[in-house]
Amino acid sequence: MRIASLNGRASLVISGGFIDVHEASEGKLSTSIRENLSRLDELRALNATLEGTNVSADDIAELSNDERLDVVVDSPQQIFCVGLNYREHAVEMGLASPKAPMVFTKFVSALSGQHALIPVVSEQTDWEAELVVVIGSGGRNIDKESALDAVAGFAVGQDVSDRILQMAGTNAQFSMGKSWPNFGPVGPWITTLDEIAHPEDLAISCAVSGTMYQDSRTSDMVFSVSEIVSYLSTVVELRPGDLIFTGSPHGVGQGQNPPLFLKPGDNITTTIEGLGILYCEAVAAGS
Ligand code: ZN
Repeated sequence: MRIASLNGRASLVISGGFIDVHEASEGKLSTSIRENLSRLDELRALNATLEGTNVSADDIAELSNDERLDVVVDSPQQIFCVGLNYREHAVEMGLASPKAPMVFTKFVSALSGQHALIPVVSEQTDWEAELVVVIGSGGRNIDKESALDAVAGFAVGQDVSDRILQMAGTNAQFSMGKSWPNFGPVGPWITTLDEIAHPEDLAISCAVSGTMYQDSRTSDMVFSVSEIVSYLSTVVELRPGDLIFTGSPHGVGQGQNPPLFLKPGDNITTTIEGLGILYCEAVAAGS
């Protein structure tokens, strides 16, 4: 099942088109994706009823070129980001791989959806392709073995980063440098885990203006999705619609030789196997 936010309303991606969840359920399910995530079984039943013919993955991907899709959850109660969660990325950043998950946040007003316009706020505005976990049932003290049961699905994200602000503190404080407007695009939709054969091993890539800079697999994570979900839940209660940015593979701008950053006009294309393609464009700050 694929759940999209079309003009701010929960929609199912079916038969090459979008179907409004609230209308198709005759008002039983919400227009809000976040509210529906705690009722995934009902949403699944609706999806099964509506699903007619098989839709090829290629047709679905093409829809994202034409349609305005908002961030998959526009009002999560919590957003978590995990830093340095791929070994080679820690190396290119000149930082040690963490022994426990390194957690920071992206403030909620940084979220955006498909075709996000990313302001180039500094000379070191950088890209980070990331798998984004969308929490379903959530909870506390979730063990690693059942962690994926608490997850509704995955989406494609970018943890856009202003490296100057990220590293400005005496001890680096990541959250502000990752929270400029539109620095958290997530899309094109939520793909539920039943659609994903190997949820912990997906190809992930990022191209900037046609050049592929990141090309990796999520199995290279230091801490797997299950470990991250379990770890977070030992401290905080995970709630339906919470988002977890799970870290970037190597190949960010900072890691190029010489370093290379976004400039206005760049297209950023982020792809994760089975989850679709997220398109963003860098624009001049203040434009
Ligand atoms: Zn990141």
